[in-house]
Amino acid sequence: MEPGCIFCQIIRKERLAEFIFEDESLVVFKDAHPHAPVHLLIVPKKHIRSINDLTDEDRDILSGMIFRAREVARQVGVSASGYKLVFNVERGAGQVIFHLHLHLIGGFAS
Ligand code: AMP
Ligand code: ZN
Repeated sequence: MEPGCIFCQIIRKERLAEFIFEDESLVVFKDAHPHAPVHLLIVPKKHIRSINDLTDEDRDILSGMIFRAREVARQVGVSASGYKLVFNVERGAGQVIFHLHLHLIGGFAS
């Protein structure tokens, strides 16, 4: 846990967010500035800066995030219509929160 990290604060319930799911290893909450009708963030509880900083011991965390994204997509009704899963990696790609997160973006008009 990083004290100054916004996502660590959300995970510790020190900062409000609209949770969709939580288990021992990750949380899912609504993005505060959605880019589409459905915009969720899948966030591991372990503070990892970005995809660049993953280690071999993080394999289960990463696969857990992707499988959870699939489940949550079903839950919020975008599985069939379609959705994007996006990791922004470092500043040049638009990463602004340096705690690993997977964007689930969907609900587009078809
Ligand atoms: P990234 O650009 O990949 O680092 O994405 C960070 C995302 O976090 C952005 O889409 C923000 O809208 C979102 N965000 C920032 N602060 C909060 C917050 N307090 N609660 C929910 N989402 C947030
Ligand atoms: Zn953090």
